[in-house]
Amino acid sequence: MLVNATSMLRAAKAHHYAVGHFNTNNLEWSKAILLGANETNSPVIISSSAGAGKYMGGFKTVANMVRCLDEFLQIKVPVALHLDHGTYDACKACVEAGFTSIMFDGSSFELNENIAKTKELVNLAHNKGLSIEAEVGAIGGTEDGVTADGEVANPKDCAKIAALGVDFLAAGIGNIHGLYPKDWKGLNFEVLEKINQVTNKIPLVLHGGTGIPDKQIIRAIKNGISKINVNTDCQLVFAEAMIKYCAEGKADATLDNVDKGYDPRKLLKPGFEAIKAKVIEKIKLFGSENKADDYLNF
Ligand SMILES: [Zn+2]
Repeated sequence: MLVNATSMLRAAKAHHYAVGHFNTNNLEWSKAILLGANETNSPVIISSSAGAGKYMGGFKTVANMVRCLDEFLQIKVPVALHLDHGTYDACKACVEAGFTSIMFDGSSFELNENIAKTKELVNLAHNKGLSIEAEVGAIGGTEDGVTADGEVANPKDCAKIAALGVDFLAAGIGNIHGLYPKDWKGLNFEVLEKINQVTNKIPLVLHGGTGIPDKQIIRAIKNGISKINVNTDCQLVFAEAMIKYCAEGKADATLDNVDKGYDPRKLLKPGFEAIKAKVIEKIKLFGSENKADDYLNF
């Protein structure tokens, strides 16, 4: 069932677990995420970036695909359909397209402009029943030139953005999008604590979830992180499973292949299974297994 993400993340914050946010790229990914959550009786956030949305044929295609899959697969757990790192225009488009949650990434704007645009989108989202995530400062990423520190947000800025009425907040605590450099210094728990103290119990979001050691993930959840974004992890296991399938000769694209391993439904299955297993692994790590009904009380 599609819902916005506000109640599920408030429940997660209050009960010290995190909800997994998994990026989708196509039909197989969407099914794997929904079924992985359903099998573990966990709330889940399935999300599309602007790039993935364009790849899949637009936000309406994504929204209809996820809604129809949710119905067809009889998914019993709460599912939020979220826009990842949205521009101002992408946020508006996703409200129209039928998403239940958006993220406005105004982190590249100067603080006052980020505040003005975030405010406007908070009103728009809430009028339509969507939840909204905002971001403070840039979180590090391979495209920005990686530093060993990652990006760290200023807690004062976090307080200002949180006060605008956003439902959850992404703030850099040393995390990085994509793969982490060998000399990475780890999550900055001091900053996380400060941000948590000044943002009035708002659920906090950890981006760049791939490559952070499990111990640090668990510690971050204990300290106020309620949503963890996972993308690269799923990409890695998908590619790995596909490479293995092909290396075993199962995809042999000739009529001699009596098992017809070239059939796209067979060819893509190992990738689908790998993502589903990764989603289940992360749900168990984040502690949201069997928390599907938790949101009803928040
Ligand atoms: Zn992100």
